[in-house]
Parts: sequence; structure tokens; C-alpha cells
Amino acid sequence: MTRLTLVILLSSACVFAQQKASAEKEAAMKADMAGQIDGMKKQAQVMVDSVFSFGELGFQEFETSKYLSAILEKEGFKVERGVAGIPTAFVATWGEGKPVIALGSDIDDIPQASQKPGVAYHDPLIEGAPGHGEGHNSGMPLQILAALAAKRVMEREHLKGTLKIWPGVAEELVGAKAYFVRAGIFKDVDVCLFAHVANDLNVSYGPTNGSGLVSVEYMFKGESAHAAGAPWRGRSALDAVELMSVGYEFRREHLRLATRVHYVITNGGDQPNVVPPNASIWFYFREADYDHIMNLWRIADNMAQGAALMTDTTYTSRLLGTAWPGYFNQPIAEDMFANIKKVGLPQWSEQDQALAKAFQAEMKVPVRGLATRIGELRPPRPQANANGEEGGVGPTGGPSDDIGDISWNVPTVTLRYPSNIPGGPGHNWANAISMATPIAHKGVVAGAKVQAMTILDILLHPELVQRAWDYFNNVQTKDVKYKSFLRPSDQPALFLNQKIMEQYRERMKAFYYNPAKYDTYLEQLGIQYPTVRHVQ
Ligand SMILES: [Zn+2]
Repeated sequence: MTRLTLVILLSSACVFAQQKASAEKEAAMKADMAGQIDGMKKQAQVMVDSVFSFGELGFQEFETSKYLSAILEKEGFKVERGVAGIPTAFVATWGEGKPVIALGSDIDDIPQASQKPGVAYHDPLIEGAPGHGEGHNSGMPLQILAALAAKRVMEREHLKGTLKIWPGVAEELVGAKAYFVRAGIFKDVDVCLFAHVANDLNVSYGPTNGSGLVSVEYMFKGESAHAAGAPWRGRSALDAVELMSVGYEFRREHLRLATRVHYVITNGGDQPNVVPPNASIWFYFREADYDHIMNLWRIADNMAQGAALMTDTTYTSRLLGTAWPGYFNQPIAEDMFANIKKVGLPQWSEQDQALAKAFQAEMKVPVRGLATRIGELRPPRPQANANGEEGGVGPTGGPSDDIGDISWNVPTVTLRYPSNIPGGPGHNWANAISMATPIAHKGVVAGAKVQAMTILDILLHPELVQRAWDYFNNVQTKDVKYKSFLRPSDQPALFLNQKIMEQYRERMKAFYYNPAKYDTYLEQLGIQYPTVRHVQ
């Protein structure tokens, strides 16, 4: 053996030993974080149950926002409130220097989804009131646990980096994230780790199967008249609304399979004997990409113009929300998935499974209980032509989340964590059933561990951030560049849901969770866990 070979061998053995030592140290740090998060189980339960009990709709998340930002402030985060001109939005920052890691999750709930937790059938806390029928009460508690565990390790090991925690305000209206982007909140961010409730523990990358959208309201103006005495003097704004909706219904057949268009009539007039002088209709226009979404919006403007011509009315319109279709980062997703396999699914109790199975029987879906196996990290579906040409089915449309806007500005992934039960219809009281029970609490704890470990990987491995940006620049945004749907004059639709919350808030206050007095929210409500239908 030559001297040189010996030196090379020794030095590579040394590098190998160093790598092994640092891998061991990393594993120890991750185990420590997981232990810390297990130690915060009580805090997870209190946060999840509290936000569940606030049950606030989009843009009206005042209690939720106050509560979560106060926790972060107490933990040493610097909180900036009212960001992007949205009163319930905030950014809580801790640490210094690069990398900057953004942690976010949605906080708003669903109209008319009030539901007692732990009860496997429809049983509202307050009939008609909003409720967490999407499980958005759990994501920010998850991010807070992960951030606190990361912060402790960063302090102890003197790791450089910045954590930025922000709530997804009014996600059900896709109402805020494009404004966050416009306000520059993600300008200095290296990686965004989002989290969304699910019934499994997983992550994905590439284009999602969901859609992007614009949410637009058309307001028609006519002339009132006695509907029987002088109907010929009236110009019905409601007629215009109906003709516009019928126009879109006819057009529907001649749109791509990826199209999803739906609407509600937000103002249909006052009473039948008065020709409605004002009426309005609110649409979501969903498609697979920017240009096709803009096309649906253009068609709608034509329909509105046609309806106004037919009825001798006039109209104005306003943009109430927007979302780009999501596109998630492969290197970060792969790293996160390795952590998912490390953490594994929660240990479900017999009671957890009994609730899940009773729920599934109630929903008339396969009774298979809660998730017990981690799925795979699958490559995205090949993007075939959406017209169904070239043999492909193409995107067929689906739900939207305005995390899409952030995902086109900074490498982003969405961690899915198992706080819900498989088989719910979504946006429904049924999806609230598990959300203040041990199922939700355990799902949050498992998700927080994955998130904390992924934060650590980003802090310790600058090359991971480098690879994330390579993918972002050279794969994701190679041909597609982000253009906001927002026009300079558009402003957040802060007025949405105001009236509904005014109607219910006082009665809902009686149900706010009091952790000083009750161990759990189930205990406060006097609910036996689980409560299932009595089977004869
Ligand atoms: Zn959601």
C-alpha cells in the first residue's frame, strides 16, 4: 500500500466516521424532539379542543387568532397581527438567519356544520351554527407543537434559522393566501411546510389532483315595482341572476372535464310582491390551470352581460377569493416521507376504532375503521391532455386550497395527518365528529413529530434547500410562471360571514372549552366516548 492510498483510506474512513457520528446525532435529536412532543400531549389536546369550540367561519376567526397568537407570543415568538390587511391574520417569528421555514395551516370552519364531538351521528351543539366540519381546528396546534420542539433543539444546539408561523385565514373561501403572497410574507422564505387534516399520514409532490379557482359574485340592479299592480314597470334583478345561471348550465356541457362551476344565490330579493331591484349570485369557477380559470371567468362576464341585456338591468362584480392549483416540492416531500415512516401512525384505542366504525356504518361507507398502514409516496399522475385527447383522461377537477398560491412562490409541501375518520363527505357536520376526540389529538401529535423532524432536516442540510429550489426553478416553474388572479384594486373580502357569526356567536360562547375546569372538551360536554347508536 502506498503512503498516498493510506492517507486517502484513512481520511475517507474519517469522513465516514464523521458522517456516521452526525447521522447518529441527528437520530438522537429527532428522538429527543419526538419525546418532547409526546410531553406536550396535554397542550395539544387543549389547543385542538379550544379551537374546535370557537368554531369560527372564514375572516371571523377572532377568538382563534387571539388564542393561537397569544400562545406563540408567550413562547417567545414575535407576533405581527393584521398582516396583509386581514385582522385575523398574523405572522409569528422566532430565530434568526437562514433558512427561513414557514409553517402554516388553516383555521376557519364550515357553515351549518355544528356537531357534538365523539358522537357517531348528527347531533349539533347548536342547530344551524358553524362547526369544524373540515377539521381546521387541528392544523395550527400541530404546527405550534412542531415549532416548540424545533425551537428547543435550535436553542440547545445553537442552530441558525428562522421559524415563521402563520394561520390560513378563510381557506374555505380561498380568501387570504394570495393576499399573503401579495403582501410579501413569503419573500424571504426558503421552504414552506403546510399541514392539512386527513385520515392518513402522508405527503405528495408534483401537481395535485385538485383545481385552482376564482370566486366571483355578480350583483344585478333593476327597478322595483308592484309585482301584481304594475309588473311591466319593474326590471327584475332576480330574472338576470336566473338567466345568468341558466346560461352557465347550458354552457357546462361544452367545457373541459376539468371544469367545476357551482354557485349560490346570495340575494334573491325581499318578498314576492316586490319586483327585486337587487339580486346577486356567487360562483366558484374551478379549472386545472391559470388560463382555463381565466377563461371561465371571461365566459361568466359574457353571461352576466347577456343576462343584463335580456332584462334591462345592470351589473357589477367582485372577486371574493382565488386559488392556484397546488404543486408540491419533490425533495422536501421525499424527506418528509422518510420521517413519516419513522413516526408511523398513532396507536388507536378500542374506543377510537369503535367511533370510526360506527361513523362509517352511519355514513353507509365500507366499515374499515381508522388508518393502520402508511401508504406510499407515489409519483404524481401523468398530466394527460385535459380534453381527453391523446388517450389521456387528464385532470378531472377536484377541491382547491389557496396553499396553491404559496406553492408557486416558494417550495412547499402539505403534510396530511390522521385526525379524521375515513369515509366522511367533507364540508359537513360528519367531518367534525372526530375533531375534539383522542383521534384528533393523536393525529396532531404524530403529525407534529413528522413536521419537527422535517424542520430539523432543513436546518441541518443546506443541500436539501438547494435541491428544493432546483426542483422549484427547473421542474415546477420551468414553463409555468405564477401570475396572481388578484387585480391591484382587489381587497380581502373581510365582510364575508360577518352576519352569520353575529347571529350565532353569543350562543356559541356558552360552549367555549374551559380547560381550567375540565380535563377534556368531551368531559365538559358530558359526552361519553364514543357515543354510538344503540343497536338492537
Ligand atoms: Zn381544508
